[in-house]
Amino acid sequence: MTLTNLAYHDFEVWEPNIPKTIQHQLYEFKNYMGSLVFGITPKRWFARTWVPLKVLRIYGDGSMKGDKSAPVVLDFRDNVIRLRQVCRNEPGYSIEIQMPSWVVERLKEGGDIKFAMIGLRNNKPYLVLVAERVVEPYQPSGYILVVDVNSWRYGIAWGLIKNDKLITWRTEKPDTFLINTLYHQTIERERKVGKLKTLGYSGSARVDEIKEQAYARKSKIYRVTKDKAYFLASKLVKKALKYKALLVIDDMTEETRRELLEEGLPRDIIKLLMSNLKRFIHQLETLAQWYGVPYEFKRLPSTICPVCQHELTQEEGRVMICENCGFKAPRDKVPMHWAIKIENTRSQSSY
Ligand SMILES: [Zn+2]
Repeated sequence: MTLTNLAYHDFEVWEPNIPKTIQHQLYEFKNYMGSLVFGITPKRWFARTWVPLKVLRIYGDGSMKGDKSAPVVLDFRDNVIRLRQVCRNEPGYSIEIQMPSWVVERLKEGGDIKFAMIGLRNNKPYLVLVAERVVEPYQPSGYILVVDVNSWRYGIAWGLIKNDKLITWRTEKPDTFLINTLYHQTIERERKVGKLKTLGYSGSARVDEIKEQAYARKSKIYRVTKDKAYFLASKLVKKALKYKALLVIDDMTEETRRELLEEGLPRDIIKLLMSNLKRFIHQLETLAQWYGVPYEFKRLPSTICPVCQHELTQEEGRVMICENCGFKAPRDKVPMHWAIKIENTRSQSSY
């Protein structure tokens, strides 16, 4: 994708591990249209690469943007996408597909789709539309929205700060009860499979069935946390927009991973939780860029005292205590105190 993106933006792309024909394909798609015939077993190279296509946009009033000979036409008059000569190399050949509603929404928000990428997903032709929008971030009003990406298991914490005060503060997390239940059900089934295997039942239908059940539970954990990640990212960006706040993201994924390891969670569950955490951060950043929310990444420690910088001790119930100065706060609130402290130093140094 990076490669095709670069090629689209007129950079010369020479990647040593792909055959020459594809390099040409990336460079000048149209001359190689003949090799883009679907319907038969796809060519092997095609399964591994995505080809950028120019996009012509025809708007509701009939005005146009883009290359008139582009193979992808987004027609907003009929809300259809036309693929010209992509699926068969015949002059005038085109297929029509329904315009996804999100494209219309992005357009209403001032976005534009300048290019598309075509490739294979699950062995089927797949068209990816890339929406772009150029927005100047607004001037922050003095509000700061701090998002602390904690252990995804405990959720994330966010706080709204103004004039050195924490106005609202909350931790949000995926349904940990459900995740725990699903997780233990998965483990239980994996153990059973192991036991049956040592007894010599490896290939039996019963083993397959239990394996299937374990897999279904694992996918559900993934889905639940993924949905929560998207929901939270959009909720937080809306909040930042409402207050015209500066978005400060504490992205300590390494510490999170360590914390999860210390809890003794198995590696594949950690991998699942971490990938959704990264997805959340990515989604947060993408939405912030799209809506012009100014944001920055800052390290906001949760184990160092924001008053005297002494190491904090964790007590029961994830309460952090400073043995040096007596500072005491819930672990997820410590980063908010750090955000206030950093903001203070910043406004003082600007005088
Ligand atoms: Zn202290």
